[in-house]
Amino acid sequence: MDTSSALFLLADRARTLGFSAIGITRADAPPERKHRLHEALERGHHAGMDWLKDTEARRADPQILWPDARSIIMLGTNYGPATDPMEDLARKDRGNISVYARRQDYHEVIKGRLKELAGLFAAKTGSEVKVFVDTAPVMEKPLAEAAGLGWQGKHSALVSRTFGSWLFLGAIYTDAELPASTPQKESCGKCTKCLDVCPTDAFPEPFKLNARKCLAYYSNEHHGIIPREYRAPMGNRIFGCDDCLAVCPWNKFAEQTRDAKLAVRDRLTLPKLKDLLRLDETGFKEMTRATPLRRLGYARFLRNVLIAAGNSGEAGMVDSMRTHLDHSDPAVRVSAIWALAQLLDKAGFSALRDQAIGCESDPDVLDEWRTGAA
Ligand code: SF4
Repeated sequence: MDTSSALFLLADRARTLGFSAIGITRADAPPERKHRLHEALERGHHAGMDWLKDTEARRADPQILWPDARSIIMLGTNYGPATDPMEDLARKDRGNISVYARRQDYHEVIKGRLKELAGLFAAKTGSEVKVFVDTAPVMEKPLAEAAGLGWQGKHSALVSRTFGSWLFLGAIYTDAELPASTPQKESCGKCTKCLDVCPTDAFPEPFKLNARKCLAYYSNEHHGIIPREYRAPMGNRIFGCDDCLAVCPWNKFAEQTRDAKLAVRDRLTLPKLKDLLRLDETGFKEMTRATPLRRLGYARFLRNVLIAAGNSGEAGMVDSMRTHLDHSDPAVRVSAIWALAQLLDKAGFSALRDQAIGCESDPDVLDEWRTGAA
């Protein structure tokens, strides 16, 4: 079958499978894409995500990842939320999980669908294909922009005229020469809402994100102690931050996803922090089964929950916080101390410190006890 008929079939099947947007770009990377990535890495904007630097060459150029690649079919899946995520920030006694993570891990859902589409295209054309969903060094957002699915907004994420901020992206690389789609014009105009809303000023300039100042980085990727200056800004966020995505005016055209496999799980929608503080590791694994939260691991989850609890103003959580003061991970102990310092009065905190400090030997934890009492 010729490639245009196969593409027609693929697009038709993609819609049936639940994909919302599709476009094609050439596999040879425009030089500006490489330069932008290189500059961000040189400036250290990748923070502790060293794999971004280690894979720079393959990430910047699809033909280094796979020399035979000639075209890339980009697909987007709508995961539009039912309500405005900004409203959830006010629910101080609840754990706020990023919209994308309140459901089954999209990688698993989308990968199977992409494989089916790629298999269909390969069978009809005899072309070679490879499928990627955030699983290999692939720059999904610039590729999606080049394929006409939207544009990279001033927050650097993809903005769609039809789906706003809420598209999961996947890619099919192929050795077939395919007609490229027309890229969309960048349409942010004079808007700076995403830059202005950021609680930690993580955008040094429009179109550039510094992960070293990003709450999504600290809650999801960072290992170890959350730096002090980011704890209060975390608010009730326990996994990710959607602020820059949620305020985009283009979301007015977005619709709630109707994809049953991407349905939001009730247990991941604003769970009570007091319940999360009591969750043991088995409970954590059960609650986060097959979701993006699972890869956080129990200790980092507790670390984040304790900080959110410290920001809650709810003194009723103090007893549960205390149970984590002897956790084996110093980052959890530091979060517990910091949270207790937010909720106890000075005398109560000092009494607790005097009881606990004799058993502590970790220098960071000792420092937290001293700082918290100051
Ligand atoms: Fe562009 Fe405004 Fe959306 Fe940011 S919030 S991506 S500046 S339109």
